[in-house]
Amino acid sequence: MRSVSVFGATGSIGESTFDLLMRDGGPEAYRCVALTGGQNVARLAEMAQALRAEVAVTADEARLPALREALAGTGIACAAGTAAIAEAADRPADWVMSAIVGAAGLTPGFRALRHGGKLALANKETLVTAGQLLMAEAARCEATILPVDSEHSAIFQALVGEDMEAVERIILTASGGALRDWPLERLASATMAEALAHPNWSMGARITIDSASMFNKALEVIETREFFEIEPDKIEVIIHPESIIHSMVGFRDGAVMAHLGAPDMRHPIGYALNWPQRQTLPVARLDLAALGALTFRAPDLNRFPALRLAREVMALRGLSGAVFNAAKEVALDHFIAGSLGFMQMAAVVETTLSRLAGEIALTSAASTLDDVLGADHLARIRAAEAAATLRK
Ligand code: NDP
Ligand code: MG
Repeated sequence: MRSVSVFGATGSIGESTFDLLMRDGGPEAYRCVALTGGQNVARLAEMAQALRAEVAVTADEARLPALREALAGTGIACAAGTAAIAEAADRPADWVMSAIVGAAGLTPGFRALRHGGKLALANKETLVTAGQLLMAEAARCEATILPVDSEHSAIFQALVGEDMEAVERIILTASGGALRDWPLERLASATMAEALAHPNWSMGARITIDSASMFNKALEVIETREFFEIEPDKIEVIIHPESIIHSMVGFRDGAVMAHLGAPDMRHPIGYALNWPQRQTLPVARLDLAALGALTFRAPDLNRFPALRLAREVMALRGLSGAVFNAAKEVALDHFIAGSLGFMQMAAVVETTLSRLAGEIALTSAASTLDDVLGADHLARIRAAEAAATLRK
């Protein structure tokens, strides 16, 4: 019986993962080692009982009594706090889903890798902030990282049996998010509710806003560079409003392999769960005749400064990804709180990158996770300062 753990079980990716595990036989088919969540301990307790998890961990220490109460008499161990989540990652499992949102997902992912099993990586921040370290650690521990972000799963699948030498370019598709058809002048006044109205994908709130600003695509470009070890000038972004093609790989003989499917994260999660096999998955089948047409357009960098900043980060590499991500997280918090405008998020990230270039060696590769977390910490301070200045 395969053992599994899910970090971020109560989130959007976590729920889809849980759905697949339950359809596949749940506790009869898998030994569930650890499930973790944050605020939603009621749902975490339900999932832990359904999968008969060995341990359930909430990130929030204040919610431990509620979790304990919900799991009283079940024999499922309970724990709380960031350290407890990292300790849950020390429990060996054959397959681990990393789906905590934000930089909080970094440490558990690294700790889970050490057992040399399979790490299904949804937490894109891990590759953006610590890509080189992560790939080196995976090689050292003989662990396999399976990408879960739909674009990267698509690229991974298009590359099966191919030689990276023959790859000429990778084309990431982007829906363009909720505001893609807005005139540029209106974008500055976009509200959170408007940015949350994603046309195709149902996802967590933070990534949905990041889709509208294209910070999500910026993170994915950097993720592509780190995971596939491909030069930045071979990575392209194209807007594809229908979200049917999840990404493409172009080869030196002119062929382009595209991965198509309904926009449902259970496909890339299920691919990672069953890899290297393919199993039947409960995702809608495409009706191409009903779709009629697939359309594409080039992204306008004036609307999406995040894409330009991603190029800068790829040129700098080193610790700049950690700074970029942390500043983006702070800017997003301010946008959600109503204290920053939609277009000011990119300004905060740009200011933070240029300020930190004068304070730390941004281009130096991190040699430990602490280097990454240190850059993340400093960037959060500088980004908060930049946000406060802009707000005035
Ligand atoms: P959600 O916000 O829906 O879920 C996040 C999960 O992390 C929840 O279980 C949440 O707990 C938990 N969590 C929140 N903060 C912390 C913390 N500080 N420490 C520990 N756990 C925490 O996010 P998504 O599922 O949308 O995204 C998860 C990751 O996957 C992100 O990195 C995202 O970029 C990536 N991703 C998501 C996609 C999607 O379709 N949703 C697509 C591709 C990538 P609780 O809810 O109980 O508070
Ligand atoms: Mg994606």
